[in-house]
Amino acid sequence: MLNKNKDMPIEDFRKSGYELVDWIANYLENVEEFPVVSQVNPGDIKNKLPKYPPQKSEQMSDVFADIDKIIMPGITHWNHPNFMAYFNATSSGPGILAELLIAGLNNNGMLWKTSPALTELEEVTLNWFREMIQLPEKFWGIIYDLASISSLHAIAAAREQAKETNSNFNLSKLRIYTSEHAHSSIEKAVKTLGLSDSALVKIKVDNSFKMIPHELQKAIKEDLENDLQPFCIVATIGTTSTTSIDPVEEIVKINDKYKLWLHVDAAYAGTAAILPELNYILNDVEKADSIVINPHKWLFVPIDLSILYTTKPEILKRAFSIVPEYLKTEVEDKVTNYMDYGIQLGRRFRSIKLWFVIRYFGVEGLQNIIRDHIRLGQKFANLIDNENMFERLAPTPFSAVCFRAVPISNMTEEELNDFNKTLMDEINDSGKLYLSHTKLNGKFTIRLVVSGIRTTEANLDNAWKLIKEKFNLLKTKQD
Ligand SMILES: *Cc1c(COP(=O)(O)O)cnc(C)c1O
Repeated sequence: MLNKNKDMPIEDFRKSGYELVDWIANYLENVEEFPVVSQVNPGDIKNKLPKYPPQKSEQMSDVFADIDKIIMPGITHWNHPNFMAYFNATSSGPGILAELLIAGLNNNGMLWKTSPALTELEEVTLNWFREMIQLPEKFWGIIYDLASISSLHAIAAAREQAKETNSNFNLSKLRIYTSEHAHSSIEKAVKTLGLSDSALVKIKVDNSFKMIPHELQKAIKEDLENDLQPFCIVATIGTTSTTSIDPVEEIVKINDKYKLWLHVDAAYAGTAAILPELNYILNDVEKADSIVINPHKWLFVPIDLSILYTTKPEILKRAFSIVPEYLKTEVEDKVTNYMDYGIQLGRRFRSIKLWFVIRYFGVEGLQNIIRDHIRLGQKFANLIDNENMFERLAPTPFSAVCFRAVPISNMTEEELNDFNKTLMDEINDSGKLYLSHTKLNGKFTIRLVVSGIRTTEANLDNAWKLIKEKFNLLKTKQD
């Protein structure tokens, strides 16, 4: 066919497009038939692919065939209902369709003018979501790709605030406080922003893995006495290991006293605040300066979509805004130009994903799914508590359960760690279930998280059966 515009002929696009949508539909329908965790060895996928690119055009049908043959064996199925590792992030039908549309439009929302709908839909959907989690209107939102990037921007704004308010501002003296259980992205942000190696002060946690406020107060006071410059606190709502919730109410008081910037990392658990019965987790966040929540983690929006809300967008803007001549427009004072609020110039039309998902499920639909995940997480916590040879190693405020097996009471901690690691590996090698781990007070801890949109009660019951089956086999081997 004559190819006037050099792109794939539109009829071929249509044909391949329908084929691909069928392929995805079949995949989602049968995802449970795949092993959850990819079984390949390092290099297996690379070795099946040619070293050099094709010089001549290839058929889409040949490319599609390689997806099944070469790529799929190397896929770990985040969409699998038995993926209960990390914080399982699943995509949903409306989210997948939105991704296709985003690529179809392929617009760049660096300025309002370069696609007004992109900017304005972002404003509207972020207001919707802000209503869903009941944050006050003074919170202004922006979409970045990942929570790591949202937190980086929040900390850069905190640095800007310190620079503007302290006439003796000294970059090498800045100090930022977070708990021992904070996500590693905070440390990465500190490195990226050029703060000193000792800038990050890790505050101890209590028995439930929550930041201890008086330790925070003590650290800030001591640093001030030593002529250092405290500028930011990062509290976590839903820490990565155990989903513990830092005492934001106390932390807010300390932040107010020293006039720092309080950033809240609620990347995963913040979504739970759409439930009226759990909305209290954000009670004191209205007195924070910024908060990050990732709809791509627990709101069935395909990766990536992270929201940063801040009450001080003008400081964020001053931290980043540089407008060269070629990017000036006549409407600057009437519109938001999102490029002014961050490192990146270009931006994808990510809000379409959130818009599709919220409209398709409705707020009530989303609440029902999350509520069910929490019910299942609590059910699993009870199963562990009621089984003699298992123990729970952390409270379960949401649907992430931290536990380990204790097969014989006189095992040393080291033997217990080995036993539990082997148990987890054997479960994961089975291809039927995927769990992950952390270490709590030196104890190897298995984590099971219910947050996948396809995960049902039957999946959870089967997971528990499998865990006990592998446990009994391993215990018999050891006896
Ligand atoms: C997952 C997670 C992050 C990092 O999220 P990305 O979007 O992958 O950068 C940060 N903080 C917490 C608490 C998380 O759970």
